[in-house]
Amino acid sequence: MLFSELPLANPLQRAIRAVGYKQPTPIQEQSIPSLLEGKDLLGIAQTGTGKTAAFALPILQLLLDSGKFRAPKTCRALILLPTRELAIQVADCFKQYAQFTAISTTCIFGGVGDASQKNSLIRGVDVLVATPGRLLDLIGQKAVSLKALEFFVLDEADRMLDMGFIHDIRKVVALLPQKRQNLFFSATMPDDITKLAATILRPNPVRVEVALQSTPIERIRQELYRIDKCRKGALLKELLLEHPEMKKVLVFSRTKHGADKVTRVLEKAGVKCAAIHGNKSQTRRQEALKNFKEEKIRVLVATDIAARGIDVDDVSHVFNYDLPDVPETFVHRIGRTARAGKDGIAISFCAPDEEQDLRAIEKLTKIKIPEGDKAIFEKLPPPQKETPESEMRNARGRFHQQSRQPKKEARSSKNEARPENRGGSSPPKKALNQPAPQQKSEQPPKPGHHKRHRNRPGSRARRRMRESGDIPN
Ligand code: AMP
Repeated sequence: MLFSELPLANPLQRAIRAVGYKQPTPIQEQSIPSLLEGKDLLGIAQTGTGKTAAFALPILQLLLDSGKFRAPKTCRALILLPTRELAIQVADCFKQYAQFTAISTTCIFGGVGDASQKNSLIRGVDVLVATPGRLLDLIGQKAVSLKALEFFVLDEADRMLDMGFIHDIRKVVALLPQKRQNLFFSATMPDDITKLAATILRPNPVRVEVALQSTPIERIRQELYRIDKCRKGALLKELLLEHPEMKKVLVFSRTKHGADKVTRVLEKAGVKCAAIHGNKSQTRRQEALKNFKEEKIRVLVATDIAARGIDVDDVSHVFNYDLPDVPETFVHRIGRTARAGKDGIAISFCAPDEEQDLRAIEKLTKIKIPEGDKAIFEKLPPPQKETPESEMRNARGRFHQQSRQPKKEARSSKNEARPENRGGSSPPKKALNQPAPQQKSEQPPKPGHHKRHRNRPGSRARRRMRESGDIPN
């Protein structure tokens, strides 16, 4: 099938040609005709399948057809997404596809001032792309109302729930007019998502399921370098200097501090790069992402949380500077390359204390990652001997990263960041043989202040234990 065979108006066909799409992807082919008939849709698909155009094009067509006009402080279509990055990405798609029409698109998200967002809503918009927190905030301030809404899209529903947005979603849904067309997208359909979909969609929606792009892992060429932690920066630098074909490189670092350290090493070597993580302002994150997309910088260093939802075409190489401790994260990371049928290369660094993570990744992917060319090691400084102190420091750093990093990153940006991390944090998996940070309760009690023990001698609990024979008198 060709796009020209779909009943889309000329300005949309022109925009499709301008963005270079020739054939609809499977989800587009299956969704667009039903959506144009005004049906509700349940789409089981993830980013990378072309789902944005699958809902954006028919919505734009129906907005053009309806002949209605936007009223002040209202929107005609609402697209709800979990993160700022995704919201910006989807709004950009709408703007591209609607570039030859008079349809307006506005994007609102938390973590930045709301003045310009409120201004853009004064005269009303056709398409509003929003994250839930900021949307409810602006509704509360009467900057926008949903009373004239015609189309509602809930995108990335499973991630929304993971991130703790369920109450916000319910609040938004309660504000929607009864008569509307609904689209619900989720990559997975566990029970709670199915129940949520049933509260939003009209009965018997069209169901479109697009198989997860058969894990493109087979198309990704992988390399592994076993390297001690302190020489990872030097190795990355050497590989980049040696291989000019590494043009659009995404480097994943476990921590924000680590990401900054990597950029310092690369900048010193003259490699154009930038870091994105929770400590960077929204403006700087967007600027870094834009420069990376436009290939003004060669390397983007990101933490997993900051990289969520980032969709950049043609990433040539993904580096796992640190291995993730959740193996599924590895699959998400390297899936940033080899998009849209292209090949890609993923290079992973594994320090001695990451061997366990490597085994978990190889078990999950059922692929033994081949080792890269060891000749590169000759160009690196000799390995430094680990002292017991440095080993302890590294292990402790790792413990802190695992247990604290997501929380800290969440705090660094306002609205969306908190829930973002509810889904992103994972408890430390390993019991490490080092002292845990001292707990408050371990500090000596203040004079005159008795530490409360639940079963201190003479307490009721202690008496009961004694009576049951658990402890001797
Ligand atoms: P999405 O799943 O909507 O995030 O889209 C993933 C990528 O596929 C984006 O970079 C889109 O621009 C691109 N894309 C969407 N539809 C098509 C198409 N029919 N042909 C080629 N590329 C497409």
